[in-house]
Amino acid sequence: MSVTLPMYLDHAATTPCDPRVVEAMMPYFTETFGNPGSRNHSYGWAAEKGVSTARQQIADLIGADSKEIIFTSGSTESNNLAIKGAANMYAKKPAGETGRGHIITAIHEHKAVLDPCKRLEKDGFDVTYLAPGPDGLITRAMIEDALREDTILVTIMWANNELGTINEIPEIGELCHSKNVVFHTDATQWVGKMPTNVKTDNIDLLSLSGHKMYGPKGVGALYVRRRKPRIRLTALQEGGGQERGFRSGTLNVTGIVGLGKACELCAQTMDDERERLLVLRNELESKIENALDVVQVNGARDRRLTHITNISFGFVEGESLMMAIKEIAVSSGSACTSASLEPSYVLKALGVGDDLAHSSLRISMGRWTTKEQIDYAADKIIEAVKKLRDLSPLYDMHNEGIDISKIEWAAH
Ligand SMILES: *Cc1c(COP(=O)(O)O)cnc(C)c1O
Repeated sequence: MSVTLPMYLDHAATTPCDPRVVEAMMPYFTETFGNPGSRNHSYGWAAEKGVSTARQQIADLIGADSKEIIFTSGSTESNNLAIKGAANMYAKKPAGETGRGHIITAIHEHKAVLDPCKRLEKDGFDVTYLAPGPDGLITRAMIEDALREDTILVTIMWANNELGTINEIPEIGELCHSKNVVFHTDATQWVGKMPTNVKTDNIDLLSLSGHKMYGPKGVGALYVRRRKPRIRLTALQEGGGQERGFRSGTLNVTGIVGLGKACELCAQTMDDERERLLVLRNELESKIENALDVVQVNGARDRRLTHITNISFGFVEGESLMMAIKEIAVSSGSACTSASLEPSYVLKALGVGDDLAHSSLRISMGRWTTKEQIDYAADKIIEAVKKLRDLSPLYDMHNEGIDISKIEWAAH
């Protein structure tokens, strides 16, 4: 029996592993299986060689020194280590007391940043959650307004995973350095797509993840600055003292080798890819906007990663829309929490109303997305929205010029 899979347009959720990455990993499962911590024999040395090559490949992609790369299980762990590790290291008061220090983040960060921040609030830290404007951006000026005497850490993502919007990261980094505040960025969506230099971009701590950049799942890294200033962290897990004591545990050698290869490939291809996907995205957006009214592209259009678009469709119901476009795998503006279908908190942060948020699609393209696929996806979406609107009395009213401005979704 053959099953036709939907067309994959959800690369911001995860990417397929590049076959060249898989090829690079293969020998490390069987032949080169040693523990890189084994210093007494060639099995260990061979594995360590694979790890150190990968460390260099990652460092090269982000302008770091290889000694500044700490391997983790992915960006969730990197964010936890960076945020909790820095907060506890630079705390102004000991555990158990309040007023331990001030942290700045934003309300539309990934949960892997927000939840560690919430934990730290319970542990005696103060956290400011900045709200973006309708463009979704966090700027240097917003951080400047929020800084306090006791601010110890700023954590702001480089590019947003639902919108693709790009924050003022080098500018915020420069500000933080001038105030001696540690600066972390969750760069999971950014790294591998955009040129990065942690030195000139003024970053102290940076999280990245293999499976968002054509590498394997379950492996990532945290960049930890070693000079000007040297950043210290409290470790989250203790044990064998691997990774300079920041992250104990036998290294995931196969994953690390894959991540390294993925970084090398991204460095080679990202400039061309970025341009190619920009052309495809422009085509997708203009096709949709030419064919349909009452659609809105969410987030600052001119400050976005080129492979992501987030579009809201007025006068359609979110779940029906998803049902009607089963041929393409995309993300919706609804998050399934345990019981209910919640509108995306990211879209809410931009002031998008609940109904429009529900009827939003995040379409994210990747290394093997073709023009034919994008044309197909655009046609499917347009057809589905038109069909659903044919059944919508509200859309009829809208077309007849009846004032429906009091209806919640029409107000946005
Ligand atoms: C995917 C993602 C994460 C989580 O990364 P994992 O490696 O899956 O733990 C964190 N932040 C952002 C912005 C992401 O897109």
